[in-house]
Amino acid sequence: MTRYSVERFRAAVFHMYLRVAVAVTFPLSVLYFLFVATPDKGGVPFAFALFAAWLKWRTRHDSEESLRYAGWFLLMLMCLMLYGTYVSNEKLHQEVWMMIFPIAFAPIVAERERIIWIVVGALSLSAVSMLRLEPLTLMSTFVFLSAYLTLGLITMMLVRHNEQNIERLAHLTITDPLTRTFNRGYLKEVMASEINRCRRGGQALTVIMLDIDHFKMFNDTYGHLFGDSVLEQVAESLMKSAQRAGDYVFRYGGEEFCILTSGLDRDESWQFTEKLRLSIYALNIENRQSPHRRLTASAGFWCVTELDEITTSALLLNADNALYRAKEAGRDRVVDFEDIPTAEKTGSTRLQGSPA
Ligand code: GH3
Ligand code: MG
Ligand code: MG
Repeated sequence: MTRYSVERFRAAVFHMYLRVAVAVTFPLSVLYFLFVATPDKGGVPFAFALFAAWLKWRTRHDSEESLRYAGWFLLMLMCLMLYGTYVSNEKLHQEVWMMIFPIAFAPIVAERERIIWIVVGALSLSAVSMLRLEPLTLMSTFVFLSAYLTLGLITMMLVRHNEQNIERLAHLTITDPLTRTFNRGYLKEVMASEINRCRRGGQALTVIMLDIDHFKMFNDTYGHLFGDSVLEQVAESLMKSAQRAGDYVFRYGGEEFCILTSGLDRDESWQFTEKLRLSIYALNIENRQSPHRRLTASAGFWCVTELDEITTSALLLNADNALYRAKEAGRDRVVDFEDIPTAEKTGSTRLQGSPA
């Protein structure tokens, strides 16, 4: 789940509704008691206000989780409005409250559920209009229903347009424009949630740092644009090789990638990292200036089973340390952080995040 997502937007709107529902229906029910109707009619909005206040308290931690109460909220809101329609008479056109309903449900439920809500609203509205204490004429019901459906349609289109923009923005926010891998900004967010997920599930988490060898020479020989296309090809081959659920490929910087995977032991992590390295070798891109004569990459990884005390910085630092060893040892190879002698593990002078 990204920081910018349709679900987050829906949860935020739902919370706003609950605030509005509490702020509006409490004073409104008092006004109904005092001026407008008999006490039993004021009691209904009051009961709804209490329900909204309880929901607001229940979902106070403002997360997407609270959206599972959205259906209950909408059901109670619809009942309140249908009750208004039922008790409405010539002087008190309480049925106009029903017009709020499409605006209320459209932004907080999934797209396909909107059709259900609008149809259920329209059917019950027509039924209650005819069954109410002072039934509406067929023509009035038709006009009322048409206005309700038109408003519903417009609202649903506006919400859909807005959600498409949110999705586009969310995609741009987490993606690297050149390689279409995830970007570095998203890395910390995913790492934090993966550490928690693996800790809870008792799984190992593997962090891989992979850097293209002698890429500068490559750029200098064939030009920057060709370098860009090589980066695209490398990213594509990495993404093809890391496709299991829980595999993530990030562009860490320039020609350095970070790959996250989970549920592998050290041996399997080694094999997986080798597979990534070999997939780049298999691209068979010539690099005449390189001692290897073709495009190669070096990688370092760290497979962690004890995640209790682990921070994202420690994971990155140690995988990067292993990458540095792979470069030092002659490039075009994989190094496991655990294989670095203990005395040398902290000996690296490389700062976290500096290019290899
Ligand atoms: P090493 O084997 O030690 O990793 O050597 P290297 O030449 O790959 O590494 P170095 O850090 O010296 O150079 C990285 C180069 O990557 C320098 C920079 O011009 C190039 N680079 C970084 N980002 C991009 C990019 O987006 N496109 C292109 N074409 N080149 C890039
Ligand atoms: Mg490099
Ligand atoms: Mg580099």
